[in-house]
Amino acid sequence: STPGGQKSREEKIFVTVRVRPLSQKEQALKDQVAWDCRDEHTIFPKSNNQDRSCAPYCFDRVFDPSCVTQKVYDEGARDVALSALTGINATIFAYGQTSSGKTFTMRGITENAVKDIFEHIRSTPEREFVLKFSALEIYNETVIDLLNRDSGPLRLLDDPEKGIIVEKQVEEVAKDSHRLKSLIGICEAQRQVGETALNDTSSRSHQIIKLTVESSLREHSGAVKSYIASLNLVDLAGSEKASQTNVDGMRLKEGSHINRSLLTLMTVIRKLSVGKRSGHIHIPYRDSKLTRILQPSLGGNSRTAIICTMSPALSHIEQSRNTLSFATSAK
Ligand code: ADP
Ligand code: MG
Repeated sequence: STPGGQKSREEKIFVTVRVRPLSQKEQALKDQVAWDCRDEHTIFPKSNNQDRSCAPYCFDRVFDPSCVTQKVYDEGARDVALSALTGINATIFAYGQTSSGKTFTMRGITENAVKDIFEHIRSTPEREFVLKFSALEIYNETVIDLLNRDSGPLRLLDDPEKGIIVEKQVEEVAKDSHRLKSLIGICEAQRQVGETALNDTSSRSHQIIKLTVESSLREHSGAVKSYIASLNLVDLAGSEKASQTNVDGMRLKEGSHINRSLLTLMTVIRKLSVGKRSGHIHIPYRDSKLTRILQPSLGGNSRTAIICTMSPALSHIEQSRNTLSFATSAK
């Protein structure tokens, strides 16, 4: 931290909120817009909204329903994504209730990041780059390889040198953006396989796309300067799966409602947000599969962006308020 406890731009978690347009269904049901994106940083409850605090919520950036994903990427994720090119691990999350726009947003963010990364590689001919792709799904604390679903649940192993490793995970080298897009397509198809096998998995599962960028530069002296870092693009389970379990202790014992990974991630994010200000505190990375896998790309010398997605509808204010309150705690 800088003197006075102010977090510097690099060390704080970059928190943005994206409000999607009212869906056709919401419009047909005469649902109302309950939020006012007053400026690029502020969102207010409208007068029809029972949010008694009526205080503005402020974030690094607020994207109103007219904002396209390109803008969300440019202003909410680009810096974090590109840090992976210079050896700094990065994670970009979409957080929000089911149907708020997480998958829609992460697809666009991934597409833009891939384009940017290959543009950077093209414009940096003096460095040699290797880009690797892998993708996981975590459902009910079970880790599945989206490039090799048939391999069954994958185990996480602690390696004294590499830290955490996902045993037998497939990693593919992507030589160009065409290959990378086809790998992303394979994973999306695999995700849909899971979807039909188990009802409504996408609201309960987390998807992690990981791009690992290795690069090296041979200097005149003969010395080689290398970087290696990963960019994690994470489409989280619906946030309603966390609030259900927060209500009372009983629910935590009911298997179907638990989303340990989401709850632990929320705790980790809150603690990172506080901890970076206050020095040493215990961060419970080890309490869930998601946080164990992401540990090297959360906290420490890494960059994080969270895009909180929400519906503008009055019928969803309860969940939207929960989302804004989590977003506030992540700042
Ligand atoms: P989630 O992954 O959070 O459950 P989705 O990304 O599937 O939500 O979005 C739900 C629906 O809303 C989809 O039909 C999607 O195309 C649409 N949608 C989401 N965000 C936007 C947006 N910003 N603009 C237009 N349509 C959107
Ligand atoms: Mg989704």
